[in-house]
Amino acid sequence: MNAPDKAPPLIFIVEDETEIARLIASTLHEYGFRSETFGSGRSLLTRARQGPPDLAILDLGLPDMDGLQVLRELQEKNPCAALILTGRDGVTDRVLGLELGADDYLVKPFEPRELVARVRSILRRYQKTAAPEPGNHTHVRFDSWQFDIGLLSLTHGDGREVSLSAAEAALLQTLLKRPNKILTREQLIGGDLDPFDRSIDVRISRLRRKLEEDPQDPKIIKTVYGAGYLLCATVEWVTG
Ligand code: CA
Repeated sequence: MNAPDKAPPLIFIVEDETEIARLIASTLHEYGFRSETFGSGRSLLTRARQGPPDLAILDLGLPDMDGLQVLRELQEKNPCAALILTGRDGVTDRVLGLELGADDYLVKPFEPRELVARVRSILRRYQKTAAPEPGNHTHVRFDSWQFDIGLLSLTHGDGREVSLSAAEAALLQTLLKRPNKILTREQLIGGDLDPFDRSIDVRISRLRRKLEEDPQDPKIIKTVYGAGYLLCATVEWVTG
C-alpha cells in the first residue's frame, strides 16, 4: 500500500520546554516523520483549524492552558490521533486523558525510541481503521447499529448518530471481526500495550457508553470475568 503521493505523517508537538520540543522534533525527523512545534496550546489549536495533523503530541503543563483542554478542543473540532507526553504521572490525568480520546500516554523523562515506537503503533492502528480489510467493506451491521468504517460513525436504528474516536473505532472493529468469541485484552490491543494496562478497560467503557442502552448492564460488549470481553451480536459486513 505504498501510494507514491503519500507524504510522511504530520505530527504536531505542543511543548513549552524548548529543549524537549527540539528533542522530540529531531527524533521524529530522524525516523521520517514531518513535525511542527508549538509553545502554547492556543497556537496549536489555531494551526489545527487549517487542517489537523495525523497525530498530536501533547504536554499537559502549558503556559496558557491545560493540555487536557487542548485535547478536548482538538477532539471536538479537529480530531486526530493524540499522545500525551507529560511529567505528570497521576492516575487521574492518565485515565482522564484516555477518556478524552488520547491514544496513549507517556511519562517524562522518556526514551526517544520509545516515543517513536508509540507513535508508530498509534498510526498503525489508525491505518487499520481507515483501510479495514480486502473486500472493501464500508459498513458493519450489528445489534441495532450500523457502523460506518470510513466515517468512524455509528447510526442506530432509531436514527441516532454517534461518532467514535479512531481508537474506539479500531477496538470496535476488532470486536466485530470475531463476534461471539471471547477476546483477551492482549488480542484486543494487538500486542501494542501491556495487557495489564487499564487503558483497554477505559476504552471498552467508553464504547459501552456510546453503544449500550444501559452501560452498567451491557448487552452488546460483555465482560467475561477473568478472561476478557465478548461482542454478543450477529454481525453483517456490507460492501459499497
Ligand atoms: Ca510543560
